[in-house]
Amino acid sequence: MMEIEIIKSTKLSKKEVRSMTKFMFKILLTKKERKKLKLTISFDPIDSEPRQEGYCIQGADDYKYLIWCRGSRQRESQRQTLAHEFVHVRQMIQKDMSPFTGKLISKRLDGLSIKNGDQYWDSPTEIEADGRARGLVSRWHTKHNKTL
Ligand SMILES: [Zn+2]
Repeated sequence: MMEIEIIKSTKLSKKEVRSMTKFMFKILLTKKERKKLKLTISFDPIDSEPRQEGYCIQGADDYKYLIWCRGSRQRESQRQTLAHEFVHVRQMIQKDMSPFTGKLISKRLDGLSIKNGDQYWDSPTEIEADGRARGLVSRWHTKHNKTL
């Protein structure tokens, strides 16, 4: 069973964060992978990194992650940030991105490589995270907005 701990969410309710997390990981991971997942999602301003909207760090094992999201942002922007970080979790679990260096370690995303691109914005892992985040949030709205 997937474990989700939510810390200091204010603008987004815990119910909503839980609903998004379950819905999006159903798209991103296999059932077997989801079962092992242990997530801590923190909105605590104390964990803030300057200029960052969110981040994701691997914990003690391959299936344990801490995700931080800047909780002072507008709700929709926080949803995009969460979805973006969820894609990075997928990349680490499915060994596309190194949890230690943040670098691409598989061939799967090679088609997204941009020659001489900016190291951050043009990296295949960021292109995938930004690209898929919009679709994840949009599908979640379609399916869940009316039931929240
Ligand atoms: Zn990113």
